[in-house]
Amino acid sequence: MNKLKVLITREEIERKVAELADELRRDYQDKYPLLIGALKGSFVFMSDLIRKLDIPVEIDFVRLSSYSAGKEPSDKIKQVHGVKTSIRGRIKGRHVLVIEDIVDSGLTTRFLLDRLGRRKPASLKLCTMFDKPSRRVTEVPIDYRGFTVPDVFVIGYGLDLDEKFRHLPDLCVLEDQE
Ligand code: 5GP
Repeated sequence: MNKLKVLITREEIERKVAELADELRRDYQDKYPLLIGALKGSFVFMSDLIRKLDIPVEIDFVRLSSYSAGKEPSDKIKQVHGVKTSIRGRIKGRHVLVIEDIVDSGLTTRFLLDRLGRRKPASLKLCTMFDKPSRRVTEVPIDYRGFTVPDVFVIGYGLDLDEKFRHLPDLCVLEDQE
């Protein structure tokens, strides 16, 4: 059995979501933004955020896969579902806000931002709940950030290890990492 250690509590997460929502509400009040969540990890953050935001938004999701299972990132990213299909044609002229669970190497987010940028949105910004800057290999402009986390593999609040642990309300690490 893995022992879990809480890194960021559900209460801290809840307060941070409210702060981010306040900021986003000010910036997007009359813009009817299109929020695009990167699956699967962002679904918990997305659902908390839009309820705290309390302004009209459109949401959609893309699913990107970095080919690798487990903990190691890969630079071979492919799009499994999203911009080419369901979202196509609905980006031009829109205020697009990408919602990420975590920016780690930055490769997945960079890939997504580049794709979306080519579709001529009125604006394109990034909101991530967690940021792990120590692992970055490509530059990613983060407009709205929840928490900066250290170089450990985190789980919970939507984030998995081999599809487990997404349901945990706190952000955790597995004890044996320390
Ligand atoms: P990237 O390395 O491209 O920035 O991150 C790609 C994806 O890897 C993230 O969207 C996330 O799903 C996953 N990832 C990166 N770091 C972590 C981590 O610490 N924990 C978990 N569970 N997933 C991570």
